[in-house]
Amino acid sequence: MDCIFCKIIDGEIPSTKLYEDEGFVVIKDINPQAPVHLLIIPKRHYSTLVDCNDSEILGGLVDVAKRVATEEGLSDRGFRLVVNTNEEGGQTVFHLHMHLLAGRSLSGRMG
Ligand code: AMP
Ligand code: ZN
Repeated sequence: MDCIFCKIIDGEIPSTKLYEDEGFVVIKDINPQAPVHLLIIPKRHYSTLVDCNDSEILGGLVDVAKRVATEEGLSDRGFRLVVNTNEEGGQTVFHLHMHLLAGRSLSGRMG
């Protein structure tokens, strides 16, 4: 399948991996919007959040994000989780993923 994130998961495209388990990888975003900008990516391909009805994966996105945020020492200062969904949601890569943003004040506009 012609999917950037599937290729990253298969190791065909290089990435900076911070975490991996049987269901998920966490990589650094190539174009960071904050000092810390990570992507939590399920290994199984779902195009969008709307296409995924697997509650293990949906819950796992948040579990993995929390775990990595804690490991990276971000949980006290704070962080933001975002899932852009479809065109008006700002999604550009159509493989379900969650953004974890941190390292600066994210207060103010949501979008
Ligand atoms: P979204 O707009 O929510 O679909 O987010 C896609 C994100 O993937 C953007 O923040 C991109 O900077 C990021 N991205 C695209 N290609 C790569 C890549 N090869 N490695 C890491 N991040 C990427
Ligand atoms: Zn994919």
